[in-house]
Amino acid sequence: MPTQPLIPVAAVIGAVIGSFLNVVIVRLPRNESLVAPRSRCRACGTELYWFDNIPVLSFLALRGCCRACGAAISWRYPAIEGLTALLFAAAAWRSPSIADLLVAWLFLAALVAIAGIDLEHQLIPDHLTLPGIVVGFLTSFLGTRVSWLDSLLGILALGGILVAVIILSGGGMGGGDVKLGAMMGAFLGYKLALLALFLAVILGGFVALALLFTGIRRRKDPIPFGPFLATAAAVATLWGEIILSWYLSAFSF
Ligand SMILES: [Zn+2]
Repeated sequence: MPTQPLIPVAAVIGAVIGSFLNVVIVRLPRNESLVAPRSRCRACGTELYWFDNIPVLSFLALRGCCRACGAAISWRYPAIEGLTALLFAAAAWRSPSIADLLVAWLFLAALVAIAGIDLEHQLIPDHLTLPGIVVGFLTSFLGTRVSWLDSLLGILALGGILVAVIILSGGGMGGGDVKLGAMMGAFLGYKLALLALFLAVILGGFVALALLFTGIRRRKDPIPFGPFLATAAAVATLWGEIILSWYLSAFSF
């Protein structure tokens, strides 16, 4: 069954999931419950009405301010909701089957949460990556485009490479990056996971250079690698096969 007709539904589901991911990004690193209490204004503590909690739309209706106290609401909330809506719609556009689409949604949602938490807290929570490795491997038995062997090889390849990088470089990357890499291998299979790692290194290099040249970061400031891994993994999920076939046809003589 083609998944392209699901694009509008996918965008709505993505916005709602993005709203939940905002809660995960704020609460998971603090070890707070993800279901209770209900969302509150972080300035005045007023509980949000359900109609003030509608993804993207409420932010626009309230013009980015709390209804009770007028404090500014971070633009990151609607940004995460909009981003997740776009990613979910793109997955519906690109997935070859319903099973692939559902697995892609699961993986993309985890990537958004992981990138958000790493940007804000400079940590990649095991609570997401360790179950992610298991779930990525198990979903390869659902008949998706990634076979269980591809998945297993992906876990070993990316986990192994990143462990080697840590040992050889003596730091610069952490255990969280290794577990995220293994999770990417589990969901993407080894070919697309290696492509994602390659893209992450290139993207991370460009951004690091740009930050150094503009003086936003100094040479010794740490730049988390997780968001680059997550971004590259999302690109590989959506367009990896196109990039690989382009690459193989360009370099085969
Ligand atoms: Zn308030």
